[in-house]
Amino acid sequence: MNYQTYLFFEGRTEYIQGYDTPQHTYPLGSLVFGVLDLDAAPYLERGRALLEKFRGVNFPEDQTMQQSLASPDTCVYYQVASFYHDFAAAVRQVSPALFDLVEGHTLANFRRNERELKAIQHSVLQFIHTGKNDSSYTFDELRARMSHLGELAITSDIMEGFCRNFPEYTDQMKVFIQRDTGDASLCRTALSVLESFVTLLQQLVDGKTDLRQLIEATLVEEDGRPRTEHGQRPSELLVELAENGDSIYQKYHKLEDDIHIQTRYKRPADNKKGGISAATFYASDTLPALLFLEFVQMCAQDLPVAVCESCHRLFVPFSSRAKYCERVLDPETGATCKDIAAKLAYAEELKANKAKELYNKMRNRYQMRCSRAPGNQKMRDAYNAWRKQAQMALSKYQLGEIGWEEFQIKLKLRI
Ligand SMILES: [Zn+2]
Repeated sequence: MNYQTYLFFEGRTEYIQGYDTPQHTYPLGSLVFGVLDLDAAPYLERGRALLEKFRGVNFPEDQTMQQSLASPDTCVYYQVASFYHDFAAAVRQVSPALFDLVEGHTLANFRRNERELKAIQHSVLQFIHTGKNDSSYTFDELRARMSHLGELAITSDIMEGFCRNFPEYTDQMKVFIQRDTGDASLCRTALSVLESFVTLLQQLVDGKTDLRQLIEATLVEEDGRPRTEHGQRPSELLVELAENGDSIYQKYHKLEDDIHIQTRYKRPADNKKGGISAATFYASDTLPALLFLEFVQMCAQDLPVAVCESCHRLFVPFSSRAKYCERVLDPETGATCKDIAAKLAYAEELKANKAKELYNKMRNRYQMRCSRAPGNQKMRDAYNAWRKQAQMALSKYQLGEIGWEEFQIKLKLRI
């Protein structure tokens, strides 16, 4: 266990940090919304296809990195780095908060071997310096383990660098390539890295279904508005879920065993001097456990959560009037759901005004004709009948029951 992903809540703000990645602040709910917004299923499929392709492959011991990289299609570490690169870019685009968590989690996986290596090194050095061996291994076994773990640590380091820099090589890689280094152990490491990616993707895909159900039971009402607007309290509904032994609740509640606490330093969002303070962070290598913890905090805070009427994704509305989220819907203009809804409402208003104008113009013209022939009762009756029809057509148009063409035809009838 590494416990290299950290999470801290302060009211409706959350702090996320990886082992050596900078700390970022996000509004509460950013992780859960990220999981719901991300389409991880195609990546899971791609990961599984890669596993299928390379599982059981015998990586020749005399093959060099240069030879492998010359044919990227059959080079497992090239394929895995390319895969992670695409996945990470997709996560970053959908949710920077989830990206921080996923990146921290992945880095922890790369460094899984480092701690064990250090422990073995310590035993070897103790034996060399003092002649005492407190481990269960013989000195030769210790040396063999140290060399094996050392190789794993190096190949994991290469994988991490390649995944993060893809498609560029890191300087470390360039040196290995120049020296005609054999890559069989790098291939095996890449395959085990791929295996943990696939596990992570499966967790994200499952999390999407599970979190949606948990949210529907506690935070969002059937009409898409926050439970809080219906006089219900998510914190109470969560207790009900727990007491009723809800199976999804139980599944994630058990994962909380994988959460540990660690004292870390909380930096203020705006990086003001003197704002640093110690805080108890939640730490875990089990990503779904941290996602669940955020969900629990959302309920505990009675967070209002609604469905956006434009993109149907979840968001936290500022007031009961807010119907649209602020996600960018049109990447070309940067317009958000809120902007687009406002524009549409304006266009609707313009259309309604145009219809009213046409109606007024026709009515005035007809009235004028009547006033020029004061004794013509037949004309006046026809005008009154027309006005009734036209008013009906106008309200039908305004309600969207008829289109512009039909509205125009109805108005010009009998004139
Ligand atoms: Zn939206």
